[in-house]
Amino acid sequence: SSSLDAGTQHAESLDAPEVARLRADFPILATQVGGQPLVYLDSGATSQNPRCVMEAEQQFYEQFNAAVHRGAHTLAVEATDHFEAARAAVARFVGAAEDEIVWTSNATEALNLITYAFSNASIGRGGPDAERFRLGPGDEIVVTELEHHANLIPWQELAFRTGADLRYIPVDATGALRMDLAPEIITHRTRIVAFTHVSNVLGTITDVAALVALAREAGAFTVLDGCQSVPHLPVDVKALGVDFMAFSGHKMLGPTGIGALYGRRELLNAMPPFLTGGSMITTVTMERAEFLPAPNRFEAGTQRISQAVGLAAAVGYLEEVGMGRIAGWEEHLGARMAEGLAGIPGIRLLGPDGLARIGTATFDVEGVHPHDVGQFLDSRGVAVRVGHHCAQPLHRALGVTATTRASTYLYNTEQDVDAMLSAVADVRGFFG
Ligand code: PLP
Repeated sequence: SSSLDAGTQHAESLDAPEVARLRADFPILATQVGGQPLVYLDSGATSQNPRCVMEAEQQFYEQFNAAVHRGAHTLAVEATDHFEAARAAVARFVGAAEDEIVWTSNATEALNLITYAFSNASIGRGGPDAERFRLGPGDEIVVTELEHHANLIPWQELAFRTGADLRYIPVDATGALRMDLAPEIITHRTRIVAFTHVSNVLGTITDVAALVALAREAGAFTVLDGCQSVPHLPVDVKALGVDFMAFSGHKMLGPTGIGALYGRRELLNAMPPFLTGGSMITTVTMERAEFLPAPNRFEAGTQRISQAVGLAAAVGYLEEVGMGRIAGWEEHLGARMAEGLAGIPGIRLLGPDGLARIGTATFDVEGVHPHDVGQFLDSRGVAVRVGHHCAQPLHRALGVTATTRASTYLYNTEQDVDAMLSAVADVRGFFG
């Protein structure tokens, strides 16, 4: 009775021999933890890097390192070319135009950048039609109860600053979004609908098309948290029809310290800048400054150049493997985890039945605290995430304070899943 094989089979998938070959590209997967081979099932938190990503960064430092968009010397021009080529690669990967991708430190910064634009204080600093970002009492911001804190707290703070109301689409007791309530919650008062594409706790995939349709009807902007979808599924922002999307490099085989904001060109060019300073201006007097168009107007100060280059290498790697085939393999691993966990007494797999998911399994072990589960699994070399996964409201709705999450990626094997299952099967015996 697996919830994961409910008619969402991807036509294509990696197979075990290919995965075995891919693993050789990830040096860290050969390490040992406490004398046991590492079984890494925490890619939902951060993914591992293939050698080509580390080499791209190293090559950048060895051959091209210079400040970008400045200076006429050869290295500066080459560094700029690599930096902008990286932007083009990442843009293509999500179906955006080059100037619709803004580099940020991570998804969290990208989401804060959007909420800043709506904060009223700087509206005079945006384009001629920046008034469309004005928010006030009577306006509503809609999020969901599934959200990671990164796509919740910035909206709470925006509501606090502007007097707008924050509303949310709740989940039911299984963690399924109450899509039946969405038409009552998204109304003519709604200005922004911000929601996650894939739950970082349950791995469930949101019905983006339905929420985008409701938001459009209401005349509201849509903000998609793509942190858990862009690494695992084919994602095309134009096909999805969202206005903004945030994602993080470190969850998609890239370096830490870099993420991106996708925004529709005309919106980005109407928005006031978030951070200000060098590299984002045209003319500056002692009184005021004129800003560059997007994306540069949002990229104040020296940028994360080698990280962008590393992220482009990650995207190239993912494209070469094929996102559909990655999704197919993770679905296979997810189904294996769900079936295995269902056969272990005292284990409750969380999440609704019948919804498509990425290869993530989050569960509760009766009578054992998740931190103990995590430590026991670690003693077997199995790395999982325990706690509230930065989604306390969702945990509250599920009636738990903390859970254990095993999350897969393209480099995980059936043996990884089986090692996790056998460790989980022993947990209650150990603590009981
Ligand atoms: N949103 C979701 C769904 C996530 O899973 C995460 C990371 O855990 C974030 C946002 C925040 O990402 P970052 O910490 O890279 O900014």
